[in-house]
Amino acid sequence: MEKLVSLAKRRGFVFQSSEIYGGTGSVWDYGPLGIELKRNVKERWWSRMVHQRDDVEGLDASILMHPRVWEASGHVEGFTDPLVECKVCKKRFRQDQLSTQACGKKPSKTPGETEECELGEPRLFNLMFKTFMGPVEDAAHVVYLRPETAQGSYVNFLNVQTSSRQKIPFGVAQIGKAFRNEITPGNFIFRTREFEQAEMQFFVKPGSDDEWFEYWREERMAWHRSLGIREENLRFHEHGPGELAHYAKKAMDIEYHFPFGWKELEGIHNRTDFDLGRHQEYSGKRLEYIDSGAGERFLPYVVETAVGVDRTVLVLLTDAYHEEEVEGEERVVLRLHPTVAPLKAAIFPLVKKDGLPEIARGLMDELRRAAIPAFYDESGSIGRRYRRQDEAGTPWCITVDGQTAEDGTVTVRDRDSLEQVRVDASQVKGWIRERLEVE
Ligand code: ATP
Repeated sequence: MEKLVSLAKRRGFVFQSSEIYGGTGSVWDYGPLGIELKRNVKERWWSRMVHQRDDVEGLDASILMHPRVWEASGHVEGFTDPLVECKVCKKRFRQDQLSTQACGKKPSKTPGETEECELGEPRLFNLMFKTFMGPVEDAAHVVYLRPETAQGSYVNFLNVQTSSRQKIPFGVAQIGKAFRNEITPGNFIFRTREFEQAEMQFFVKPGSDDEWFEYWREERMAWHRSLGIREENLRFHEHGPGELAHYAKKAMDIEYHFPFGWKELEGIHNRTDFDLGRHQEYSGKRLEYIDSGAGERFLPYVVETAVGVDRTVLVLLTDAYHEEEVEGEERVVLRLHPTVAPLKAAIFPLVKKDGLPEIARGLMDELRRAAIPAFYDESGSIGRRYRRQDEAGTPWCITVDGQTAEDGTVTVRDRDSLEQVRVDASQVKGWIRERLEVE
């Protein structure tokens, strides 16, 4: 993890928020390469979940919602973690995660001795951030920063259904920020207090929910694999009765094998009609789906898929990070899937003369016009230029050399196999496009 965090900073993937003020461990900023990677993750999700399907619609609900939403959803009452504080070291821990946290000991004043942690009584701590709407700071004006995007989809369920003329089963997809005042954020961007989620709520007829749950868990696992995440690092974990959230009939996590253990990457939940039922009750508005063909009305069940965008970025970086020896030299390479890699190509003139830089820049402009992010680099030896791109995860390095002027071909070097092929410069755009197509 340390190596990854340092690479992420050095190469401009992720910086600590407010670093010049000492930073904070619970929020992070995405740099030039990081934001491209994150945008690509969101794009791959949106493409598969919305654009490639007839039965899912997109939505972008606001972060601030009516406070009653969070009463209806159960968050005001129940979105809590058990907080325990150590009387000796004054650190705070989540009681349900004590076994995995580095609690325990604090160096005592006498060298060679340690004091044991002494934990106080647990108290329930609500994870929602509170603020006030308008200039008056009193209880009547409290609003919350949403801790999940899902509620925006529930309260808009009928708006989306009627405006898009969808019939059940159909889904509502959203990508957006969520905020949780986590007791123990950490592990880089794994658990933060501000993060982005990509969530989809699939509304189905009660009775068909088990079948749809099975469908969505397989479909979501297939998406993670399609990002190039190694199969052996992914697994399902089904929630036992003690782990199930208050709204869930069934829940399954997709877990990833992080350097700090198997942890949740995505949750797939059968939320039944809990949320729509509660919003119907709290708002006094009917939220039933009317099936005019069958002459019936009912509250749909919901199968939810909820993945963290930042957590997916962490998974991709972790899975892609490799150190290896090439021709007696060590190289660090990010084997990112080409579709998520921040840059698709880097273009190098072999030397800074003989018209090679002009040809190289021309090629770069052509790629950029075709929406293929490309980077031009003419500084340093070719070897060093390759290494810089290996660390950035750029799949193809294209070199313009003496032969280009003669026969119009360039060398394309593959980041992973290190193989080099000559491709006609006029074909490079198509050659790259072909390799960026997703199944
Ligand atoms: P946990 O038990 O780890 O707190 P959760 O089960 O509450 O997580 P969900 O509410 O199911 O998580 O959220 C869906 C997804 O959002 C998670 O699988 C994770 O990828 C992401 N996520 C949740 N909390 C955070 C966080 N604090 N920081 C980053 N990502 C998060």
